[in-house]
Amino acid sequence: MSHDTDSVAAAGRGSKRNRDAFAASLLLPVDAAGMRGRGWEELDVLLVTGDAYVDHPAFGAALLGRWLERHGFRVGIVAQPRWTTAEDVARMGRPRLCVGVTAGSLDSMLAHYTAFRRKRRDDAYTPGGRSGARPNRATLVYAALARRAFPGTPVIAGGIEASMRRATHYDFWEDALRRSVLLDSKADLLVYGMAERSMLRACERLRSAAEAGEDPARAVREGLLRGIPGTAHALCPRDGRALRALDESAVVRLPSHEEIAARPARLMEATLLLERQVHAGTAAARQDSGAQVVVFSPPAPPLAAADLDALYALAFTRRAHPCYSEPVPALETVRFSVTTHRGCAGGCAFCSLALHQGRRIASRGDASVLSEVRGMTRHPDWKGSVSDVGGPSANMWGAACRADPAACARASCLVPEICPHFATAQGALADLLDAVAAVEGVKHVRVASGVRHDLAARDPDYLRRLIRRYVGGQLKVAPEHCCDRVLALMRKPPFRAFEEFLDVFERVSRAAGREQYVVPYLISAYPGTADEDMRALRGWLDRRRWRPRQVQCFIPLPGTAAAAMYYAGVAPDGAPVPVPRGDAARLRQHGILTRAGGS
Ligand code: SF4
Repeated sequence: MSHDTDSVAAAGRGSKRNRDAFAASLLLPVDAAGMRGRGWEELDVLLVTGDAYVDHPAFGAALLGRWLERHGFRVGIVAQPRWTTAEDVARMGRPRLCVGVTAGSLDSMLAHYTAFRRKRRDDAYTPGGRSGARPNRATLVYAALARRAFPGTPVIAGGIEASMRRATHYDFWEDALRRSVLLDSKADLLVYGMAERSMLRACERLRSAAEAGEDPARAVREGLLRGIPGTAHALCPRDGRALRALDESAVVRLPSHEEIAARPARLMEATLLLERQVHAGTAAARQDSGAQVVVFSPPAPPLAAADLDALYALAFTRRAHPCYSEPVPALETVRFSVTTHRGCAGGCAFCSLALHQGRRIASRGDASVLSEVRGMTRHPDWKGSVSDVGGPSANMWGAACRADPAACARASCLVPEICPHFATAQGALADLLDAVAAVEGVKHVRVASGVRHDLAARDPDYLRRLIRRYVGGQLKVAPEHCCDRVLALMRKPPFRAFEEFLDVFERVSRAAGREQYVVPYLISAYPGTADEDMRALRGWLDRRRWRPRQVQCFIPLPGTAAAAMYYAGVAPDGAPVPVPRGDAARLRQHGILTRAGGS
């Protein structure tokens, strides 16, 4: 047993008080006592998050905090601080280098409001599952709190909310165009995509400046953090030289905020250019907004497999901080899950991944996955089940482009058909699942992440092995709709791909003697969907005698191509698209699918 696993196991022994104290000592500090316990007089980096502090690699602040700690930084976490006062944010004192702020695992507006803009009553990332522990537009609020608590200390915004709102975007909940969250938050830097490389680089630069006796705030004003891959910074008329250099350089120019406000279709143009930047990974881009300019450095390359393995090998306790008396629901579903890879080649227009993680797949090595599973089996709470082995799409582990992604103009590797250069490793993935199942102490292994059906249908052997052992009766699949016109707007494969998949699934299940079900994920009221399209989908479900259980009324997520479609009423190619807009039209379409008998 490794030292780290020993420690986690020891956290499960003794009296509750001793256990809590010991468990807290394994985590990053959340207060002055925790700092003293580590012999720290100050932090280097303070992370402020809208999620509860859960020491699990599925929780961004814990993942980033551990990563920075591994690279020699003293990191503290303030989770879900009160926002009526700066006291919570200030409780560990001014950090030497910077404050990182994130709304948490979800955009805070999505976390708070339904597709019909009603307040949600629950929040899976909060102890007890109660809503109300983070503010609306948490990135803005936390950045303001950080500035109030520590005037002059650099503030870096990151996480999904900052990432997806990094340029001018449509906000569904306000039904309005908003400019870059970097400008509204007045943060010194915005990190987009997966933050490990970019944040580490920013912290290293700040540390070097501090060690050279420079004032970090001044160094940042003078451009210390500019140009780091995976970040955005703002320039204003005071930055004359940097602006002139930008004007003379070959950066991609996105339509400005004002141009988009004047002509909504230009939001689609800006969104596609940013998607392209994430995928090609080469050029910088800029967007003017009034007198200011937001400069988007090229994306940070995905972590190399060795770095990804090292990241997931860190000593996560897989527990919420012992200061919480109630469970954090989001932890309960992922406590013994394993993330095998990042990125998704699908590029679905409604999904945040195309602009956040990108389409290139970064996979962990199988030895790393197995080592994590072995560690789980020694965890005090281990019951024998690995609840998920997956990623954004479970069967993309090991997939790669055999050509040059930087030279590729496609918006999806899988649509309208699977690119001939897209290589999968589904056979090796099935081997990996078998190896996980063979780890001593593992009784069950499940694949709970969604499976990309067009890829799975192409490899019946993978599907057979998946169905026989790892599905647990139900397999999540996302056809989303049945009308090819709508599917094309979603960047999903034609419906026949799903029907082909179902054929294979049912044949393999029968041959295996297993009663298994596909759980189809569907979207109502997507741009371009007419009522008769919803009735066609309802008819297809009725003919199969399927009662839809997973229907999401479309929510235009900030930064996505689908949000640009909803806002501007144009498809990516500029063609006009009718949009079911307003609650009445959206409810009607949703009801066709969800009401008994439809209508
Ligand atoms: S060439 Fe094909 S596999 Fe490679 S990035 Fe482009 S679409 Fe994807």
